Amino acid sequence: MSKSARVLYWFRTDLRLHDSPALQAALDLKPAALFPVWCWDPNYVYKHRVGINRFRFLLESMTDLSSNITSTQSKSQLLVVRGEPTELLPELWKRWNITHLVIEKDPSAYGRRRDRLILEAAKKSKVEVVAVQGHHLFDPEEVTKRNKGKPTMAMSTLQKIVADMGAVPKPIDAPKDLPLPKLKDSKAKNLKDTLKELAKSLDGLPHYTGKGREGPASVDLNSTELGGQRDKKVTCYDTVTGEASDLFSVPTLESLGMDRSKIRETIKGGETLALERLAKICKDAEYIATFAKPKTSPGQSAEDPSTTLMSPYLKFGCLSVRKFWWDAEEAKKKYKGGSATGPPENLNGQLLFRDMYACAEHAIGDAFQVIRGNSACRYIDWYCPTAYDKDGQVILPRPPGDAVSEARLSAYKLGQTGFPWIDALMRQLRLEGWMHHLGRHSVAAFLTRGQCWISWERGAEIFDEYLIDWDPCSNPGNWMWLSCSAFFTQYFRLYGLITFGQKYDKTGALIRKYCPELKNFPDKYIYDPFNAPKDVQQKAGCIIGKDYPFPMLDEKETKSENMQRMKICYQANLHGADKEVMNGTAEAM
Ligand code: FAD
Repeated sequence: MSKSARVLYWFRTDLRLHDSPALQAALDLKPAALFPVWCWDPNYVYKHRVGINRFRFLLESMTDLSSNITSTQSKSQLLVVRGEPTELLPELWKRWNITHLVIEKDPSAYGRRRDRLILEAAKKSKVEVVAVQGHHLFDPEEVTKRNKGKPTMAMSTLQKIVADMGAVPKPIDAPKDLPLPKLKDSKAKNLKDTLKELAKSLDGLPHYTGKGREGPASVDLNSTELGGQRDKKVTCYDTVTGEASDLFSVPTLESLGMDRSKIRETIKGGETLALERLAKICKDAEYIATFAKPKTSPGQSAEDPSTTLMSPYLKFGCLSVRKFWWDAEEAKKKYKGGSATGPPENLNGQLLFRDMYACAEHAIGDAFQVIRGNSACRYIDWYCPTAYDKDGQVILPRPPGDAVSEARLSAYKLGQTGFPWIDALMRQLRLEGWMHHLGRHSVAAFLTRGQCWISWERGAEIFDEYLIDWDPCSNPGNWMWLSCSAFFTQYFRLYGLITFGQKYDKTGALIRKYCPELKNFPDKYIYDPFNAPKDVQQKAGCIIGKDYPFPMLDEKETKSENMQRMKICYQANLHGADKEVMNGTAEAM
């Protein structure tokens, strides 16, 4: 490639420099200039209720990326711009004489839709697009093709397909240098002047860096509370001073109008921390080699997790999943103990689950997020009518109506269900943006087929708002799994609201941490304080029904009714994409 290549490298799912095959592809073009861009995408904000913790983690990751770019020989910088990418990018490549747009492939349905438009625009502008897979172990597009367009609904299906796709590619090093983002006729002697020139070249584009205030590119980034100011146009860069160095810089949480006091900043973002964390974990060869997910404890918090806590870093691409895979493989080789664990319960298995959901989502598309039209999703009637026997006797009452369900959903979200195990987990999620996998199992089964009989879509929405690691494939995929709507069918297997947590931690440390009003209860009652005699409650300084709620439902009764409902739905054997089902739903509602 000639020296005249001028590359716009668009960071999206890959906030890192190490093992980035897309970035390497950009450098292979031997560009004369490389523009490392992050473009705020209003759709990301409008479509999803992004909570403060996810935004914080993202900003920290962007800041770290920018600093890592600045640490390369040329001392370049991440260029943060904002606006609808389909409108803004064509302007950028026109004004910066871009010849190539290079991206890591975003295989999600939304990402593909957006990128199709970008590709069309690039074609019109004669900008060549290079898109390289790097977000998963295997390319979901290729896996789906090999699976004849069908979703991968089981780990064994995925394993069979990828067995013919060769080994996971080995990771590559971070580049030592990135060409500066210079204009074609640049006179700049340093980065500061370069940024000034770039800013000047964008004159007339009012919202590109946040200098402007209103307009179509303004987004409400303060949409963290449900029903917030979603349609109000607010600026997201109030602190911009007009200095060139500020113009393309990463905004602060405060400048986005977000209140840090509402969250606990337990998990910090960025490639640097991700790599440090991975190195620390992989030093413990025994931990890696004997990792067995079902044996890890959901009772441990993010400060001392029993699992790797890598999901937020993988979500934003701060950590390459291929590096995770290979570093774990290397660590395993050093293990001199007994037999190592295998997939699906070992670490490789966990990473393969991530791929499995990505490939399933790739095949289904947008409908993967919902029940309606989703061919992977079994139809479970979350609004089912009363069931009668042939003599007209009620055998199964109608599940609670909308008002009760909404009240339960709200209590669930706030961690006020009266079941300490569920409440501690939900408060952990709201406060810190993360929860152990088996904790997610507990709360997801509770909300759906276990006790509340509320659609998994509603639970997935709450996770979408609060999880740092929220992922458009893993989140709905796992919600379908836990509600036995897809992937998993053993609906008779449930998690006891008292016994499951106790199995891992009899002392209830997680409850004491996130439900401090219960912290003085003796171990015997920490999971079921509502069964504690009055004098025990008084001694603990917490009266159930006054200082902490009574359980909002009867665990056993709801479990037994819901089990019957599941049986009926399984016998009907309908799917979300079934047309009759859709009509039936409308009637039932
Ligand atoms: P580890 O056990 O250390 O696993 C290592 C990595 O493997 C994780 O970082 C993750 O990338 C991947 N992984 C592990 N288990 C799964 C799984 N079941 N599905 C997909 N990937 C997996 N994970 C997300 O990354 N984003 C989500 O939005 C998400 N939503 C979930 C919703 C529900 C209802 C449930 C039950 C699980 C969800 N998970 C999601 C999967 C899983 O809970 C998290 O990936 C895991 O808890 C992250 O912690 P860890 O990094 O310590 O995991």
